[in-house]
Amino acid sequence: MSAKNITIIGAGFTGIRAGLDLARAKKYGLIPDNTVIRIVSKNDYFEYYPAMYRVATGSSPLQACVRLDEIFSGYDVEIITDAIIDIDTPARTALGASGSRYKCDYMIVALGSQPTYYNISELEELSFHFRSIHGAVELRDRIQRIFLDHKDSSKEEQLIAFHFVIVGAGASGVELAGEIELYARSVAKTHAVDPSFISISLIESNNRVLGTMPEKISHRAEKRLRVLGVNLFLNRRLIKKESWTVFLQDMKIGAQTVIWTAGNIVNTLYKDLECFPLAENGRVDVDEHLMTRCGDDNIFVGGDAANTKYAGLAQTAIYDGKFIARNIIRDITDESLIKYEPKKIGYDIPIGPGWAILHIGKITIYGRIAWWMRQLIDLKFYLSILPLHKAIKRFLSKGDGPSS
Ligand SMILES: Cc1cc2nc3c(=O)[nH]c(=O)nc-3n(C[C@H](O)[C@H](O)[C@H](O)COP(=O)(O)OP(=O)(O)OC[C@H]3O[C@@H](n4cnc5c(N)ncnc54)[C@H](O)[C@@H]3O)c2cc1C
Repeated sequence: MSAKNITIIGAGFTGIRAGLDLARAKKYGLIPDNTVIRIVSKNDYFEYYPAMYRVATGSSPLQACVRLDEIFSGYDVEIITDAIIDIDTPARTALGASGSRYKCDYMIVALGSQPTYYNISELEELSFHFRSIHGAVELRDRIQRIFLDHKDSSKEEQLIAFHFVIVGAGASGVELAGEIELYARSVAKTHAVDPSFISISLIESNNRVLGTMPEKISHRAEKRLRVLGVNLFLNRRLIKKESWTVFLQDMKIGAQTVIWTAGNIVNTLYKDLECFPLAENGRVDVDEHLMTRCGDDNIFVGGDAANTKYAGLAQTAIYDGKFIARNIIRDITDESLIKYEPKKIGYDIPIGPGWAILHIGKITIYGRIAWWMRQLIDLKFYLSILPLHKAIKRFLSKGDGPSS
């Protein structure tokens, strides 16, 4: 059999899951030994986004960032660091920013999503985010620096400097809002700053937090956030940010640090690619095998970018990666392809230390048990990509934060 080349573009949840399943299939002889498995991604590490809010609040960056060579250690996978800038679909070839061309028989495109700032002027430059390891570390450093810089400022200045405004009350914004005060307090303590000057505000354009979840979950989350001392501004939009002031449509707030979690869109590269037709919601239209509908077989799209029922979650992206790998193995071994069935996914959202909301199907659990479950979910994920000792080490890695 002639050697097949499988190229995976993007080493996120979909990419590494597909890569590992294919690599295992090769290692254990389920696909021919001469199959080439290549993963091309713009970074040489995988980012575990669910832990980013913890890195921003003092946990070790190891919890959210894993080198690809560690993940694929012991497997025959070619790892290439390159940003893809174009894909020639009929030729099944991807073009990298380095000038290299990656031709293959099977291509998995899983480029994820990216933040959007809705054209709010200068927001990108003036706000912080934690949707990359660099963003999370930068935010953590900002929190530390602001206490150092303002420890001797006037009371009026401190009230503005130590006011952290989070925009967007989806899961990421809520998770950060629940954790940031504790971290800010611990940093304040090291600089002998009065912690009563710290305040956290969460701004949301919807009339409730966690707007995509059932109402009773939103209400419990709001109650919990209020207990933690978070100021909630619902039904409000950020329209402008200046260095010391945040402008909502009907009010001004004094704050230096704005953290943006409100906008998320599918990677804009898809828009520029030929043969990746987009659905109305901006995701790539895919068929029942998660292949693009451009008339050329064997180009798959998974994860956040694929227009499937539960896209936008890590669990879905992992499920897609597994599904695509399974079909590629079937195709190589001349078995018929299986059809994609969307899989309903649960949520587990920590809000502050020792407390979380777990929602799976009809079951909802609030409090410490849900929080422990979330710890297990994180550990289970590390175990799915790393050997036991490395997964446990990463799970237990500590930073300088109070709950790390
Ligand atoms: C802060 C945050 C917290 C989250 N928390 C949760 C959670 O708790 N639970 C949950 O279920 N979901 C969560 N999510 C959503 C989840 O992380 C995404 O659904 C998931 O990452 C999607 O996986 P993916 O494989 O599609 O893309 P990603 O995981 O984003 O991977 C995309 C990959 O493509 C690479 N890439 C991008 N552009 C290029 C290019 N041009 N060339 C080459 N490579 C490129 C990237 O570097 C990355 O490796 C969170 C998301 C964020 C941002």
